[in-house]
Amino acid sequence: MGFSEFLGNGHVVAALRGMLAAERVPHAMLISGPRGVGKFTLARMFAQAANCEQLRDDFCGECDACRRIALLGDVRPLIEQGLAQRGERPDASTVERIPLLLQTHPDVWAVVPDPVRAKDPVARPMLRMGQLRAVQRAAYFKPQGRRRVFILDGAETMRWDLSGIFLKILEEPPESATLILLAPNPFLLQSTIRSRCLQFSLAPLPAEEVEEILVRRTKMNAEDRKLAAQYCEGCPGAAMDMDVGAVAALHRDALTVLERAVDLRGVAALFASTSALAKSHEIAFENVLEVFYSLLTDLLDLSSSSSKKTLRNPALRRELENLSRKVDVAWITKAVDGFDVLHSRMRRNINRSLGLDAVAISLARPAPVPEKSEIR
Ligand SMILES: [Zn+2]
Repeated sequence: MGFSEFLGNGHVVAALRGMLAAERVPHAMLISGPRGVGKFTLARMFAQAANCEQLRDDFCGECDACRRIALLGDVRPLIEQGLAQRGERPDASTVERIPLLLQTHPDVWAVVPDPVRAKDPVARPMLRMGQLRAVQRAAYFKPQGRRRVFILDGAETMRWDLSGIFLKILEEPPESATLILLAPNPFLLQSTIRSRCLQFSLAPLPAEEVEEILVRRTKMNAEDRKLAAQYCEGCPGAAMDMDVGAVAALHRDALTVLERAVDLRGVAALFASTSALAKSHEIAFENVLEVFYSLLTDLLDLSSSSSKKTLRNPALRRELENLSRKVDVAWITKAVDGFDVLHSRMRRNINRSLGLDAVAISLARPAPVPEKSEIR
């Protein structure tokens, strides 16, 4: 047990342990990195180490504090419990009055974007004012153990006009509390908050390391492990939750859209593939776009250099190599631009299938110019 369980990003782990050993723990940290790379796990381990009854710069995993904080390892039942406490159909004021807070140890809180169900099912989960105010009040309580730790997952979902609550805490930092903000990218936070946090960034793991984690933590068979490690883009958390078959199918279908856009063997066939993609996969459209970005990144790597590259989609290497011979960097750039526009419109609820069609059509290559001899 202890930090050695956390695989990858050893320099970040070493820095955290160094701070704990020297008892120079900051009041605010920001851990960034892609979804599923281990931000929450590392923050939870830090909370354990900051409160372990046996060790100073690591955690034993056995003492009462370690065990209780370890319960944050699976937040789903805790979220369900929190939502149930609030009642089936909470109105807006109830949501703020009874904030969703996950706590399994008196000194450690996890705050996650509130998924507010029932009345407003389309609202995106976000950190809400009630949650931030509760943290603000609790941060100044004396810890029962050594240190109060507040883990704020999805810090980028905080409304910018609420970040003042946060700044207040950071300007008058409580003596023995640490706020740990987690976000996919530090630049999604306001600069005034970002600059007051000690920043750490978790990089994606190589596929082999992800596989190693899957061996230890899951019952996946070898073939699924390999595919999950390939498709998770270096994020073990994403690999563990993955429906491997569905994700592989999504990647293949997205590649088909790109192939048909290049060949444009007929508009009907292209529309069939885009609408199938938009409808058939029960997956957030945002994730569909991420798949396109990862395929295009591979295409760019393949077409820009002759050296053997590590692909994000090694299972589709042959198809990607074929496609890379038909496109050039200008085409790929145009495709990325098209998906960027689609991404920026996503929140405005455009018709997704039509949006994809538009990008695909714009990428269709013009009919080849006939040779001069043929004109005669
Ligand atoms: Zn312990």
